[in-house]
Amino acid sequence: MTETRSTCPYCGVGCGVLIASDGAQITGVRGDPEHPANFGRLCTKGATLALTVAPPIARQTRLLQPLRRLQRQGPAQPLGWDAALQWACDRFAHTLRTHGPEAVGFYLSGQLLTEDYYVFNKLAKGLIGTPHLDSNSRLCMSSAVAGYKATLGADAPPTCYDDLQHAHCLFIAGSNTAYAHPILFRRIEDAKRARPALKIIVVDPRRTDTAEIADLHLRIEPGTDAMLLHGMLHLMLREGWADAAFIAAHTHGFEDLQTLVHDYPPQLVAQVCGISVDDLTLAARWFAGIEPGTPRQPTLSLYCQGLNQSSSGTAKNTALINLHLATGQIGRPGAGPFSLTGQPNAMGGREVGALAHLLPGHRELANPTHRAEIAALWGVPDLPQRPGKTAVEMFQAAADGEIKALWIACTNPAQSLPDQTTVRRALQRAEFVVVQEAFATAATCDFADLLLPATTWGEKEGTVTNSERRISRVRAAVPPPRSTDSTDPTDNGPRHDWAIAVDFAHRLEAVLRPGQATIFPYTHPESIWNEHRAATRGRDLDITGLSYAALELAPAQWPFPAGATLGTARLYADGIFPTADGRARFDAQPYQPVAEPRDARYPLALTTGRLRDQWHGMTRTGTLGRLFGHVPEPALELHPQDLARHGLQPGDLVHVASRRGSLIAPVQPSDALAPGQAFMAMHWGAEFLGGSGSGSNASPGSGVNGLTSAALCPRSKQPEFKHSAVRITKAALP
Ligand code: SF4
Repeated sequence: MTETRSTCPYCGVGCGVLIASDGAQITGVRGDPEHPANFGRLCTKGATLALTVAPPIARQTRLLQPLRRLQRQGPAQPLGWDAALQWACDRFAHTLRTHGPEAVGFYLSGQLLTEDYYVFNKLAKGLIGTPHLDSNSRLCMSSAVAGYKATLGADAPPTCYDDLQHAHCLFIAGSNTAYAHPILFRRIEDAKRARPALKIIVVDPRRTDTAEIADLHLRIEPGTDAMLLHGMLHLMLREGWADAAFIAAHTHGFEDLQTLVHDYPPQLVAQVCGISVDDLTLAARWFAGIEPGTPRQPTLSLYCQGLNQSSSGTAKNTALINLHLATGQIGRPGAGPFSLTGQPNAMGGREVGALAHLLPGHRELANPTHRAEIAALWGVPDLPQRPGKTAVEMFQAAADGEIKALWIACTNPAQSLPDQTTVRRALQRAEFVVVQEAFATAATCDFADLLLPATTWGEKEGTVTNSERRISRVRAAVPPPRSTDSTDPTDNGPRHDWAIAVDFAHRLEAVLRPGQATIFPYTHPESIWNEHRAATRGRDLDITGLSYAALELAPAQWPFPAGATLGTARLYADGIFPTADGRARFDAQPYQPVAEPRDARYPLALTTGRLRDQWHGMTRTGTLGRLFGHVPEPALELHPQDLARHGLQPGDLVHVASRRGSLIAPVQPSDALAPGQAFMAMHWGAEFLGGSGSGSNASPGSGVNGLTSAALCPRSKQPEFKHSAVRITKAALP
């Protein structure tokens, strides 16, 4: 029996794990006591990882060999890897010849490792020349990316988990940390126990388990976050709680913001947000760190999808960062704006540029200098000159017939994207859909012309970056499973995501660059990692000093330039920001209400979110009965008054309808919601919920995202999962 040091594949906390195995099968998992994210702790999801890969479950859920469908959603036939990848190459080459590079798109995942991401990005933007490569990270943190860039000059969370021990105020906005980042929440609880004077403010329309530990819960009306934050700044300025010296020395644009927030007086803000002026004032004072007779106390803000998943998500992010800049709450222990990433490697995807507007090393496609630098590194003549289509836009383009070939890796858009009617129309209309996936149970597999089986946690090598910029190694403990249907030992079982992309790229190079040396000379993830490191030289995230050998010693936070012996826990301690003049910028954006307000036809505000014990589309956590102990079945949660108003009893079935689709679910009462609000967990897909889309090509049973809205933030292109207008009617019993 051996133990292999690796990283949990679920959330962005990035806990270290020790995988026990007998060399052939994983037999257990425990928290790594030496990993600085978790110090040995695991939540229910992490602690049950070994069970999700146990052979009885894996036999039912894993894809083990390539499968081809000659008819969309028809029977799938097995074929060998060589035939599968050559077919993919032939079909993509045909599309490129017929329609050009912009007719193909790649849709990736924050579950991929950094090395996987890097190869796919080079394949799409470097070899094929399409800018249409995006990631499901677009659905969870692109507003944070845009917010950091617009204000601080770089997409870099400036804080770290240890700041919890130094903060005097935690401002938790739009984050149910207790469920979404459970081990981080344990550290918050520890900090509160150790220092009862620590003030915790939670901003959330719902009274979540996170809000239960708050000293002040600001239960705002859905979508009014920017109104609240501008109102807090108005009060800080009026009361003299801002840091004029910091503003003068380290920022630009304060006058415009001052003018803007002048129009957000406390009475108006309190009324729109549905809170009291006293609570608003208390929040502003605590955030500013003003305590009589003491120097300014540090405030750490923690924020997530409640700010990001909004049609004004970037403006909400920058409104919060404005508060940090206006009060000098940044660059010192316990202070700073800390965006929590949902997925295990959303950060790694950002670092290698695997979003539609990015290139490796936090470079941008629209920047000619950046394009020239990466073209030289990759050995290609040029790169696409403008940003590609983002997640929602890519599927809209496929539904409109513009994108004809889609390659989907390690993500499940037929469940996770909003407005499933459009997504499913896209998957039906695209001429060729490749799905590279570990689990046969993912809904998107049903739409694939070609299914490529991928390795998964416990079988893969590479790296991930967690929310605090800490890079950890992911290691293989066991070989991937094998198909018993194939007799060819060289053509059997799942392959690594990067290796699938490299094999496909080699075949496509023979068509697009005949006779030239390959630009994909990789035989191991380490060689990909080393090229990625080279791409960061001189950039804000410089990791040229962070070899695999260095990562053997311990996980490390970037930047970690060549010659460094330690990573960087905290950014901007010197007050210099990565902008042209070294100053941060205030971003003055007015409050925008939600894109789809409640009205007489759709009078309920639906929000979605996570359960404590489930992960995304439940392809892994949904296989374990014990993880249904916390929440056993899907439900639409409503305030008891709304149940009474509709004559409903707990457990009654209702039709839930939005302008895009409908589903049937039981109702449950919840005091966590205000009257007029509704909640349903994001995890419930077609297998749990009946329903239909509203369009002529709609597919039935698309889960909760058959209801959600694809309204986008214009700057980040992140969709507004957190607010859709819906109505309910009691479902007649059959
Ligand atoms: Fe895994 Fe996140 Fe739980 Fe840690 S907190 S064990 S990373 S799911």
